[in-house]
Amino acid sequence: MSVLAIDLQVAVRRVSSVNPATGEVLRELECAGESEVLAAVARARAAQGAWAAIGVRRRIAVLREFQHRLHEKKSEIAEAITREAGKPVAEALTTEVLVVLDAARFLIDHAYRLLRDEPLPHGNLATKLKSGRLVREPYGVVGIISPWNYPFSIPATETLAALVAGNAAVLKPSEFTSLVALELQSVLHDAGVPTDVFQVVVGDGATGAALIHSRGETGIDKLVFTGSVATGKRIAAAAAERLLPVVLELGGKDPMLVLDDADVDVASSAAVWGAFVNAGQTCLSVERCYVHRSLYEAFLKACAEKTKKLRVGHGLDRETDVGPMIHEGQLRIVESHVADAAARGARLLAGGSRLPELGKNFYKPTVLADVTHEMRIMREETFGPVLPVAAFDSDEEAVRLANDSEFGLAASVWTRHGERGERLARRIQAGTVMVNDVVSCFGVSEAPHGGVKSSGVGRAHGRFGLEEMVRLKYLDVDLMPGMKKVWWYGYGASFRRQMEGFLDLQFARGFGERLRGALRAAGVMWRKRL
Ligand code: NAD
Repeated sequence: MSVLAIDLQVAVRRVSSVNPATGEVLRELECAGESEVLAAVARARAAQGAWAAIGVRRRIAVLREFQHRLHEKKSEIAEAITREAGKPVAEALTTEVLVVLDAARFLIDHAYRLLRDEPLPHGNLATKLKSGRLVREPYGVVGIISPWNYPFSIPATETLAALVAGNAAVLKPSEFTSLVALELQSVLHDAGVPTDVFQVVVGDGATGAALIHSRGETGIDKLVFTGSVATGKRIAAAAAERLLPVVLELGGKDPMLVLDDADVDVASSAAVWGAFVNAGQTCLSVERCYVHRSLYEAFLKACAEKTKKLRVGHGLDRETDVGPMIHEGQLRIVESHVADAAARGARLLAGGSRLPELGKNFYKPTVLADVTHEMRIMREETFGPVLPVAAFDSDEEAVRLANDSEFGLAASVWTRHGERGERLARRIQAGTVMVNDVVSCFGVSEAPHGGVKSSGVGRAHGRFGLEEMVRLKYLDVDLMPGMKKVWWYGYGASFRRQMEGFLDLQFARGFGERLRGALRAAGVMWRKRL
């Protein structure tokens, strides 16, 4: 936390935006205090009604404008991401800008259909004379708290869904990547999102906590949080106090299973990219790799060779494959996991040390073999450029190892036979399982993103992410307003007989029984109700 400066003397907290490759302080910003957070939420609430009232089609038009403007600024935004988060510009373009452009495409194409009223036909004869509809209403003000590792794509995809559904949104970005959030704000405002409908409150954990504790007229109506399990648990407890609905997108320890019929060349390339993309600081990165023993040594050799060829450097350098880590604290976690694994007998095949000649946040992409579940590296989220690999002897064992984790974000299965992969995929406890791919599910705008077990609650992206941004109201209209209901008071022996008949009519086994039921029930319509 060395980059988080707290100025106690004037009781103003500040966050510093730092280039992780060079250590250069890009900008210092004041943290929004509690009163500023409450004021932002109050402004958002005041502006939300008008935003909801313009209707989905006009909001979609704003999203289209946002998409055009983002496309025009694609390289500028990608470079801003690289300066603050370190990843190579090419990666910022594909895993951040492209993801957001496509999330906008999904909402432009589908939000109208997904948000409009939905008829709900009734199957029960007792309610046939009613018309049912599902109505989707915006929550009001959605709070979004986001991490630093995908500082653009995570808050932007969540924001677009919140806005198109008619909500106002208040974003508290990570203290390490405030500037990227401010870039997002500027593109949204330029595209026509009213200033108070989308606001960024810059700050640290205390600023995020103020957003959750906001109440009543100045309180948010829903929270979408993305971050670590530890913070997620704190947030869930605080949200429970005021029954605030939350989506929690938390950490992962994603397994990759390489079956005995996999293509070693393709799978090893996938493992290397999946483990080191964004210097391994990806919630969906390959954090554990299990390889069938028959391919184990060949796979390890291929991974080690490919890893040694990776060019580590500054993200703004076009030849860089792997950039720096976000800060030294994250790097120390990686070092401690690697040291623990080595002490317990893991084999180091590549990397395993810092690159001080490049800067203090650089760590060599690292391949470890013969790891076991007794090692921290196979149980805790490492969130760094390390690929730990273990062998297995049967599909059964592979599934058991994959599921032996507190996390359940995503997983992958590698095989030349799609059906076999699918069979195994269904047995893995995770929000997403990819057959023959890694990480890319985050870029499938139609697909729900989220975890099971400690990896979270709820979903982002696609239809289900949009559903998280609306309150579902069931609208029930009786089509015979002049008629009293047969089940109202006036109970007695004949009513009971008629009800039994009515139940038989709908649910009895044989046709004869149902016919008798119909006759017994027939009188019920003519009974005089109280
Ligand atoms: P973090 O939990 O430290 O911080 C996340 C956000 O929460 C930041 O904005 C932070 O300021 C804020 N925060 C911290 N304490 C808070 C509090 N008490 N109340 C309210 N807000 C608070 O996580 P991080 O280090 O920024 O991000 C890395 C983690 O995020 C990893 O565990 C990674 O797996 C996870 N992640 C998950 C997903 C996903 O989609 N599941 C995506 C990206 C990252």
